[in-house]
Amino acid sequence: MKKQNKNDNAANRKSYVGHVFNIGEKHEKEAVLNSLNSEWAKLHREGYIHIHDLDAYGLTYNCLTFDILNAFPYKKFEGLEAEETIVGVFDFIKELLAKIGNEQSGGMSFANFDKDFALIFKNLGVKVLENHAIFKACIRSLILWCNNTHTRMGQTSYYVTFCIGLGTNNAERFLSYTLLECFSCAGDLVYKPNIVFKVHKGVNRFPEDPNFDLFQEALLCTARKMIPTYLLCDCDADKNTDPEKLSIMGCRTRVVDNLFGESGAIGRSNVDNISINLPRLALEVDKEMHNFSLEDKVAAFKLKWLHVASLTKDILLDRYEKTCEADIDLFPTIREYKLTREDVDKVGLRENFKHGTLSIGFIGLSEAMEVLSGEKYWNNDSVYEVALNFVKYMRDYTDDLKTQYHLNFSLLATSGEYISGRFEEIDNKLFKSPIMEKGYYTNSFHVDVDSRLPAFRKLELEGPFHIYANGGCISYVELSEAPIGNAEGLDELIEVAVKSGVHYLGFNFPKDICKECGASGTFDVCPACGSTEITRIRRVSGYLEIQDYFTKGKMHESKNRKTN
Ligand SMILES: [Zn+2]
Repeated sequence: MKKQNKNDNAANRKSYVGHVFNIGEKHEKEAVLNSLNSEWAKLHREGYIHIHDLDAYGLTYNCLTFDILNAFPYKKFEGLEAEETIVGVFDFIKELLAKIGNEQSGGMSFANFDKDFALIFKNLGVKVLENHAIFKACIRSLILWCNNTHTRMGQTSYYVTFCIGLGTNNAERFLSYTLLECFSCAGDLVYKPNIVFKVHKGVNRFPEDPNFDLFQEALLCTARKMIPTYLLCDCDADKNTDPEKLSIMGCRTRVVDNLFGESGAIGRSNVDNISINLPRLALEVDKEMHNFSLEDKVAAFKLKWLHVASLTKDILLDRYEKTCEADIDLFPTIREYKLTREDVDKVGLRENFKHGTLSIGFIGLSEAMEVLSGEKYWNNDSVYEVALNFVKYMRDYTDDLKTQYHLNFSLLATSGEYISGRFEEIDNKLFKSPIMEKGYYTNSFHVDVDSRLPAFRKLELEGPFHIYANGGCISYVELSEAPIGNAEGLDELIEVAVKSGVHYLGFNFPKDICKECGASGTFDVCPACGSTEITRIRRVSGYLEIQDYFTKGKMHESKNRKTN
């Protein structure tokens, strides 16, 4: 999930620095591939796997949930008036995002924006509730900064996630409410940062809970803008972890279990991840064993996957090793503000990165099952069982790796930005199959975006996969238009999702904005002024983006989406 050449990354804008970066990046990716074991490089080049962020190989990790409370620089704000302190702290957040955004390859997250900053301001002696107006101005400015600042790698915006919803005192509630309000009112062309609302019983999930009103506010905001998304803390996968320790990246990376200490995301990273092209393996099996039984084909498919996964594991370990041995001076900001689980200046990079995850990802489960069985897995109970068992099989393998290598391996249900098109394009040259007709592969274990299944059914089908994909996953409900005024309907779907095992949930709907008059809705011709100049905002791999900047595969997918 990051910048690629041309429009491989949905968030890109053009600039001179970006142009130079792209040339360097392309060169660097090639140099890294050439330096790898030739069998590994071949797997990537031939489209069996995708090594994400190749240019960052051995130089940095992927993403991070900041441990912001660990060593917050209170001294910076000593002697300042309340107003100066508030502005100063928000400037500091922007500074952190800009610095870290250029020191790592992926997303950044605050696990509890409401609780943590309420505490920070309390420690600074600033009374949040007595400074309404300036807080509101600062939060609005922070949102606009996330939306408008394309200085990462000279061309792209920062992947930022603020998790909120658990803070129940007045200052905490004010911060959550204001973030939602400012985002909701910021206009249709403001679609960043990613906001994640943590849903938890006893705090906000039910009418008797103290933050139920905030949850409703969040749903109203989602009904307008597709944000927030929802981290469902009571689901089977997460219910035994303290919700305050949970966090998520917009790209869906989940970091919870830890072989080396307390579970939860704070101060921890996904270090590296590689995705496997499931349809490719299925297409090979089908070619070699066309008339065999489904059972035989699935057995062969598992063996092929195991072979590729074993090599993938070797690459992850090699990259992890190199990242642990990287130049510590590449990480000035996590060192200065001690944002990570361990103080790297005291214990070194390795002792810190061991808390991070190494993830094996996958895309195209739906197409793979269709190739093997001739059926959509979500349309046939026995194929559904095969699909679920296969995902469990992959998870068992990553669990075995944990024991074997004593590192935090996990299974990632990859979002598939860029690769959903890249894999399909390569496979299309090698195989003839109806699964290629749409021009992309379905991401992770998702039901096809054009399934037209009712939303609750889609959630019931996808829910059971969530507990296996411990490295991250999301389920989406596709709506035909903005459900403005129907937050209750969303509320009901969230309940279905929690009960089905979904741990992270998003609502998508097409959002079209007239470039001439600013009218918004779902249209090809503006109903207000008749213009056909339309800006289209869609969710791509977790983050909202303007469709003009989509990659080819994602463009096909977005056009193909049908409502649930
Ligand atoms: Zn118009």
